[in-house]
Formats: sequence, C-alpha cells, structure tokens
Amino acid sequence: MANLNLTAKKKHSYDAIVIGSGASGGWAAKELCDRGLKTLVLERGRGVKHIVDYPTASKAPWEFEYRGSVSVKDQEPYGFSKFMRAETLHWRLKEDEQPVVYEKPFRWYRGYHEGGKSLLWARQTQRWSDFDFEGPARDGFAVDWPIRYEDMAPWYDHVEKFAGICGFNDDLPELPNSIVQPGFELNCVEKHFKQAIESQYKDGRRLISGRAAHLTDPQQIHFDQGRGRCMSQRMCNRGCNYGGYFSSNASTLPWAAKTGNMTLRPDAVVHSIIYDDKKEKATGVRIVDANTREMLEFYAKVIFVNGSAINSNAILLNSTSDRFPNGLGNDSGVLGKYIAWHNYRGRASGRHTGFKDKRTAGGNPSHAYIPRFRNLHAHEMDFLRGYATGIGGGRGKHRSSEGIGDSLRDNLLKQEWGDWHLSAWMMGETIPVEENHIRLHEELKDKYGIPQIVFSCDWTENDDKMVEDFKQQIGEMFERAGCVDISVDDSHAAPGSDIHEMGGVRMGKDPKSSMLNAHHQLHACKNVFVTDGACMTSTSTQNPTLTYMAFSARAANFAADELKKRNL
Ligand SMILES: Cc1cc2nc3c(=O)[nH]c(=O)nc-3n(C[C@H](O)[C@H](O)[C@H](O)COP(=O)(O)OP(=O)(O)OC[C@H]3O[C@@H](n4cnc5c(N)ncnc54)[C@H](O)[C@@H]3O)c2cc1C
Ligand code: SF4
Repeated sequence: MANLNLTAKKKHSYDAIVIGSGASGGWAAKELCDRGLKTLVLERGRGVKHIVDYPTASKAPWEFEYRGSVSVKDQEPYGFSKFMRAETLHWRLKEDEQPVVYEKPFRWYRGYHEGGKSLLWARQTQRWSDFDFEGPARDGFAVDWPIRYEDMAPWYDHVEKFAGICGFNDDLPELPNSIVQPGFELNCVEKHFKQAIESQYKDGRRLISGRAAHLTDPQQIHFDQGRGRCMSQRMCNRGCNYGGYFSSNASTLPWAAKTGNMTLRPDAVVHSIIYDDKKEKATGVRIVDANTREMLEFYAKVIFVNGSAINSNAILLNSTSDRFPNGLGNDSGVLGKYIAWHNYRGRASGRHTGFKDKRTAGGNPSHAYIPRFRNLHAHEMDFLRGYATGIGGGRGKHRSSEGIGDSLRDNLLKQEWGDWHLSAWMMGETIPVEENHIRLHEELKDKYGIPQIVFSCDWTENDDKMVEDFKQQIGEMFERAGCVDISVDDSHAAPGSDIHEMGGVRMGKDPKSSMLNAHHQLHACKNVFVTDGACMTSTSTQNPTLTYMAFSARAANFAADELKKRNL
C-alpha cells in the first residue's frame, strides 16, 4: 500500500508548479521550462489552443445570428451587459462560476480560460521608470519598493524581444525606451493634437504613439513561435489567427510545451497551497477538478502564484496551516490589504472641423498616449502622483436610419463623412491604503467549496482631486487644439473598471510590513513566488502587464538558480 501511495505521489510531482496560465503565468512557465524544470501549469478554466479555439476570429458580421448582438436569453447566464457581443461571448464568465461579495461597489473583470486575460487585453506596454519604483519612498506612501529600474531593465529587454513590442523610442525619463519594432503612425487629428500640446505647454508634456505588443516587423524568434505580422485587422479580442499580438496562447505556452517540460492541466481550480510545518516550506498545491469536483494534490519544489491579483490573494488567504493560521506567509498581517487599481474615471471627447481632405483614420490597433506630467519633478499639486492619458482620434460616417422599406434602404446606403473627433481617457495612479482590502467570507462558499471573496475597496479624496485636475487639463488641451463640442466628465465608475487591480501581497524590504522580498519570494516561505499584480507595492500610471511579465521572467530565472544551488 505504502508503495502504491509513493507511486501516486511521484506521478503528481514536478520541479515547479505555476498557478494560472495568463500573461504572467505563461511567462513563468516559459522561463522555468527553458531552464529545464518539469513544470505543471494549473489553470482553472478550459483549454484554449491558439487558432483552433478562436471560433469567431475571421467571421464577418453577417455570419452572426444578430450581426453580433446577443439575445436577452443568451445573456442571462453571464449577467446582463450592454457591452456583451457574440464575437467575444466565448470568453465571458458565467455568473455561477465564482460568486463574490461586493461590500462596496467593485467591477472585477475575469478571464477564466487557458491564456487568461492575455487573450483580451488592449496590449499597451509602457515600461516603468524610477519615477515609479522610487515613488512611494519619495512621496511617503505605501512602503518602499525593494527594487529599482536598473534591476528590471534587462528583464524588460528580455520580454520585449520575445513578445514583440511596437512603438517609438521617445527618450523620456518617465518612460524609458523599449526594444521596439516600428510603431503605428498617428492619424492626422492625433498629429495635430500632438503639435498643439507640445508647442503650447512648456512643462514637457508629450503625445506619443502608445507602445503595444504587436508584431510590425517580426523577427526569427517570432517566426519560431509560429507568429506572423499584425495585419491591423483590429479584431484582436476574438483571438488572432496570425499571432499578430502577444498572448500566452500564441507565444509563451506553445513555446514552453515545445521544450517537453510543461504539463498544462486545464479545469484545475486551485484551492490552496500545502505547507509542511516540519520542512518549513510549501510542498504542493490542492486543486478541485472542475469536472469531477474531486480534490487532488500536486507536489513541487517551487510554486509560482499567477492567478491574477485578486485570486492570488485569495489562494494565499485560503492556504492556512498551524504555522500560518491567517494565510500563507502572512506574518505581517498585510495579506489582502493595500489593494489598488487605476483611476479611469475621467474622460473627454471633442470634434475638430478641419482635415476634410483626409478620410481614413488608419487601422491602428494601438492608440496615442500622453505620459504622466503631473508631480513628476516636483510635488506641485494638492494630490499625490499623477495620470497618463489615452487618446484616440478618428472620423466616422453618418447615416440615417429614418424611413421604412425603400427609403430606409436608401438612407442606410447614403453615408456621409462626419467631422474628425478626439477622445481621451484618464489613467491615474491610486494610492494603496490599508482599508482597501479583500478577505474570504467566513461562511459563503462557491460550487467548488472555496470561500467566496469579499471586496471592500473605495475611492479616496486623492482620486477625486486627480479627476478634477484631469478634467480641467484635458478640456483646456482640447480647446487649445481647436476642438469644438468638448465634453468632459467623471464617469464615477466603480473601482476595478480599469481591469488593473493590484496589491495585497506587496513587495517590500521589511517582512513586518510586506509579503514578498526583492525576488518575489514570500518572506516567510521562500519557495513560493508571486509575480502577478498582487505583488505591486504601488500602481504607477502605466498599463501594468509588461511589468508583471518582466517580474515573472526575472523571478523564474532566480528560482531556477536557487534550485540549482539547493537553496530552495
Ligand atoms: C479588455 C482588457 C484590456 C486590457 N488592456 C490592457 C493593456 O492595454 N495593457 C495592460 O498592461 N493590461 C491590460 N489589461 C490587463 C491585463 O489583461 C492583465 O493585467 C493581465 O492579463 C494580468 O495577467 P495575470 O497573469 O496576472 O492574469 P490573467 O491574465 O487574468 O491570468 C490569470 C489566470 O489564472 C487563472 N486562475 C485564476 N484563479 C485560479 C485558480 N484558483 N486556480 C487555477 N487557475 C486560476 C485564470 O483562469 C487565468 O487564466 C487589459 C485587460 C482587459 C480585460
Ligand atoms: S490588429 Fe493585428 S493582432 Fe489584432 S487581430 Fe488584427 S492582425 Fe491580429
């Protein structure tokens, strides 16, 4: 009998386990496999193979039953939303999959399938700088990051070369240059806006083409992944048959599979991490099989937690033992606290009556970007930190849907060009505060027997002041660029609407006030690494995923080195 158990245990044993196959987990898996480690990737959602499982990727509008609209009946299992479309319904989460408790309003957007949200993202990839890593220490909030830009620069290079980032090198201290392929050109109204801003403001504000994870000039390393050039089709969130943008499915996961070292287990809902009090380390992971509801255990020397920020918090909180009654590694008591996100509440639009000779807005799958200009070199505002701004310009056609029969048809066919328009959205940094937290509900559980997550997060006065400044500044910039019909407002959207939730397992130098050290190891359990948004000490303004990917690659290589030295 003992032998049988040993054989079963051996069958379930690996060098490394990665929880989650999204943007960060895919990178951890690739690097660990490249280093020769037998790696098990546990993914709670279904398997999604590149190209094969993109059912709508090349469908024309008329091939959908209601031209892409979703009937009320079909919306029901997913909850109702005006944004639901048939093109992307297969990525949506059914409401009964993971009920949660919102103590205060929060919008939690999830992608539960192989590849996670790397299939859904908008692919914006700006680097962080020391304005970000030094921010908490300089401005006196949260805790100091235990790393600086120089620790990350080689890993940004590493990730950018493999993933393929397009854009331009803008030589801005607040936005270090990237390894780029040619960027997408701004259209005429965006170029005009750029010129208006850069000539009229003397505070260094710039408008650039946002860097994005698209292949505009693929290199051998991308062909080796089976990927090709982006054709600017702009249907990325259906899955791209060309592999034109970076996703785990097109890039890191097939690469890891090719090494022969990866086992990917979909439908594996991680319940908790197993901690051995005697060995003083984590020894494995408990999962609930989503189909059979059987609880199974898998074992490994190192464990990477990459379930996306909130889930990684929840998994650690649910991993209790005699040594860690309040969650794995939670000696400091900060686990689940200091949750932060990005402030996308401010938005604006305006019309420009010029450029009538120019028709096409171009097929840019990225957009224009104004890097943060507030509180950069000095603390000049009555709020902390600042905001970047996303900008999109375009020109549409008007058509009337008046009439009936022949007159309706004639009106629909008679399209007239409208004016050029500009829109803007705020991307503000939020300050992590202790009260903004998630925790596990004491009684309510989901269908897998896992405690439900309680969200208790809210805006602060700092966020409100930042929105007011954004509104004033963007309105003025639109005015100076000669826009008319300018509309500026605060959407008052719930926290989380930006889909950049972060924190709860923050990095820091002091184990008394943080969870992770400079290598993403739990201070109190060194063979567990957290490299997704949960590890973020502060949020900066840049879209965060490039940084999670670079963190994952760096930590995975560190783990492989430590294993070799027998330190783990
Ligand atoms: C519409 C949209 C636009 C976005 N645009 C951008 C952008 O332009 N730039 C940017 O930087 N970011 C953007 N993001 C955010 C970006 O997608 C995420 O930051 C990124 O995917 C996070 O990577 P991750 O690995 O932490 O999580 P994910 O990619 O979400 O992957 C997590 C994986 O873990 C799995 N998992 C969760 N819990 C468990 C469990 N208990 N057991 C097993 N598996 C589990 C999930 O199923 C999922 O596959 C956008 C997101 C969306 C939805
Ligand atoms: S824009 Fe590029 S990456 Fe997006 S779907 Fe088209 S070809 Fe693919």
